[in-house]
Amino acid sequence: MSNRSWQTESLVLSLSPFGEGHRNALLLTRNQGLVHAAVFGGPKSSLRARVSPWQTGTAWLYTDPVKNMVKITDFDVLFWRQGLRENLVRTWCASLCTELITKSHGVADWTLVNAFLDGIAVSDETECRLALLRFLWRILSGAGLCPDCESCSRCGAGISGKNGVLYYSPYEDGFVCPDCAHRDEQRILLSREALDYLMAITRLKPSEVRAIPLGYGAYAELRSFLFFLLNRMVGSPLKTLETGEGIL
Ligand SMILES: [Zn+2]
Repeated sequence: MSNRSWQTESLVLSLSPFGEGHRNALLLTRNQGLVHAAVFGGPKSSLRARVSPWQTGTAWLYTDPVKNMVKITDFDVLFWRQGLRENLVRTWCASLCTELITKSHGVADWTLVNAFLDGIAVSDETECRLALLRFLWRILSGAGLCPDCESCSRCGAGISGKNGVLYYSPYEDGFVCPDCAHRDEQRILLSREALDYLMAITRLKPSEVRAIPLGYGAYAELRSFLFFLLNRMVGSPLKTLETGEGIL
């Protein structure tokens, strides 16, 4: 009986209405993946204000075996991240983060996700955009979905002065050098600057990568490339990417 009440560190991903004024919360928990939990109480309920998207805290939960339902009995917010609601770019980045976690069924590193939300809640728009790229590459890395971006998958040549660019081939899920790339195949170009940035994310500490400037051209290349990999990872177009056209 005792394990019907339990507590866990949780990040609120989303809320949806159910019943008469109640809500269903989707939580990412530190150790138990995604959990759906009911939040009872009307608009004036203080619990309702605390269980709000992008807030992280300790959730007290009760599992009702008869109704086959989990409900939140209390939620102690540790990170409010108010800044995420104050700027459209921050909001959009946070929405993409939560949609990604939801569609990948909770496959996301707890520390990485929370650090990302903490960072963008206090960052300007330019830094938010770059933070998003770094976050997405780390998510893909955690899922084992990063193609080798140091050499051509057909001839093995590395990126050098001669090969200032590589082309990502969606068909092969690998990079090919200009000598091996066919003119008429589907491909995404990444410049040396963009490739170096990806390698820096993999190799350097987060604080060191943050200090590396990224030109707009390389940023745009990485955005196209990472958004493509992301949609493929979840198996369907991410709504946030479709509706957020023009925000980033
Ligand atoms: Zn090649």
